[in-house]
Amino acid sequence: MEELRRQLCEYGRRAADLGLVIGTSGNLSARDGDLVAVTPSGVPLDRLRPEDCPILDLEGFIVEGDLAPSSETPTHLEVYAATGAGAVVHTHSVFATVVASTMTELPPIHYNALLLGGAVRVAEYATYGTPELAANVREALAGKQAALMANHGGITIGTSLEKAFEATRLLEWLCEVYVRALGVGTPAVLTETQLADVITRAFTPPDHPRRPRPHPPAPPA
Ligand code: 13P
Ligand code: ZN
Repeated sequence: MEELRRQLCEYGRRAADLGLVIGTSGNLSARDGDLVAVTPSGVPLDRLRPEDCPILDLEGFIVEGDLAPSSETPTHLEVYAATGAGAVVHTHSVFATVVASTMTELPPIHYNALLLGGAVRVAEYATYGTPELAANVREALAGKQAALMANHGGITIGTSLEKAFEATRLLEWLCEVYVRALGVGTPAVLTETQLADVITRAFTPPDHPRRPRPHPPAPPA
């Protein structure tokens, strides 16, 4: 768990450096077996020390650490109970929050949305930190790597903190592209067929035949 606590500090700092979180908004967790390390509540994510991050069991009992775990711990634990995730990242990043406050789904206008499972659902609004929000997020995440949280932000999962963090960066990028596209015209949403073709292409990469090397010149007699 010490390595996971260290990673929470590293990715917390990176999230702050990239402007994905401001101050104490957002939280991260990582799971190893039946233990979860989570960021503490109300501590700026760029100022975390490993020992600040409580370690909990899957029922939410604190096993180690003096600080209170993130207020969104119910959502993190609900996600671990419902998925095989190894890590969860939640932020209030700007474009994710814009989309989450105006739409019920982020439509796939770029094929990279497939890395998050295609269209991203917006979980129904509920007060932060509540079991209702946790249940809404679980529903919105079904079969996906990401969800938006109405009038709140975004949440992503991955097998590791690195993967969950990259999914958060991608979610923010997709939301920004969508919002900026809306400012130019009507974004074209990829069809089911176009998305299926992308999956086919990804699983059947073309050969890259190599031209045979010319024979080296014969050595002088
Ligand atoms: P915590 O500081 O308790 O993790 O809360 C931040 C947050 O994003 C609540 O949704
Ligand atoms: Zn939040």
